[in-house]
Amino acid sequence: MKIVIFGPPGSGKGTYASRLVNKLGVPHISTGDLVREEIRNKTPLGKQIEKYSSSGTLVPDAVITDILKKRLTAELSKGFILEGYPRTVGQAKELEKITKVDVVVNLNVPDSVIVDRLSSRLQCKTCGAIYNSKTMPPKVAGKCDKDGGELFRRVDDQPEVIQERLKVYQQASEPVIDFYRSKHLLKDIRNEDPSVDPEKVVDQIAKAIKQ
Ligand SMILES: [Zn+2]
Repeated sequence: MKIVIFGPPGSGKGTYASRLVNKLGVPHISTGDLVREEIRNKTPLGKQIEKYSSSGTLVPDAVITDILKKRLTAELSKGFILEGYPRTVGQAKELEKITKVDVVVNLNVPDSVIVDRLSSRLQCKTCGAIYNSKTMPPKVAGKCDKDGGELFRRVDDQPEVIQERLKVYQQASEPVIDFYRSKHLLKDIRNEDPSVDPEKVVDQIAKAIKQ
């Protein structure tokens, strides 16, 4: 099974994708993780990416595609759940050259739900642990359970910044989603209630995939 998963920031796609791994027995491939791995291992590609990020320029499509190609080719026989790629129609076409995709999951979560979820997210200043004042509160308000560090709200989790991130996501992903819709590969999943057990959403996704 070769699956691509789409969803706005804060839609929980990473959580769902990693739980689908157990359910469907395919590896979860996140381009974000692959990029961090290349940088950590100081590979030639990793060094190239670091140069782009330190100069503030976007990493070109071709570089990301190269990284993905390397990993996907190794995993092709097992199938995959791909997250973070394709971000453009150009990348979608590149992916077609590497392999055929069986199904594309599109997570739909209302903006208001995402703003609410992300703006209640808190992070520890000391160890980076993530909490949520509504769904996963620390034992003592404002303090990390592990080290007592001070909890703060990240700049990109401020409501105005989240709105902006959602707008950017919408504009970038729409053509890619249309591309897959026109190929009849798209499965829309609605998730309006963030407090619902993630396992239930995963079941819903697995059912849609198998249809
Ligand atoms: Zn901490």
